[in-house]
Amino acid sequence: MSTVSLYQEVILDHNRKPRNYGTVENASHQAEGHNPLCGDHLSITLNLSNQCIDSIAFQGESCAICKASASMMTVSVIGKMYGDVETLVKEFRDMVMGNLNINDSHHLGRLTIFSGIRDLPTRVKCAILPWHTLHAALNSITNISTETKNDSIHTMISKIG
Ligand code: ZN
Repeated sequence: MSTVSLYQEVILDHNRKPRNYGTVENASHQAEGHNPLCGDHLSITLNLSNQCIDSIAFQGESCAICKASASMMTVSVIGKMYGDVETLVKEFRDMVMGNLNINDSHHLGRLTIFSGIRDLPTRVKCAILPWHTLHAALNSITNISTETKNDSIHTMISKIG
């Protein structure tokens, strides 16, 4: 299967059957993320126990790319330690911004299907939003937007059109 059709297939699959969709009860961390340029809005709830993500869920209204990115993100980070998740957030961000050579060593696994996003500048924020929101939740920032200056990731993504 070509990379493009694999990409389309994965996006469709995660939109039909989003993984970990909903909310985590008694969440220890949560954040809301907005991408006004596309209209994406999602909330992430998670439970961190002994620095490990026990459970995580997302919900909201978003485009297919954002939803697939959120769905795959929850699958990728569940059971991972806080430090490893922050590494993954950075690697994902670098990948979609074209700052990561996917032939170099990284921890992205199947998430590399999003690497082609770097060629679609208007969709980069859609793909990043769930990761940006997860990063905010882990750092006790409860509300983020791709268009306001309230955390370090913004500084990175504000350079995108
Ligand atoms: Zn979007």
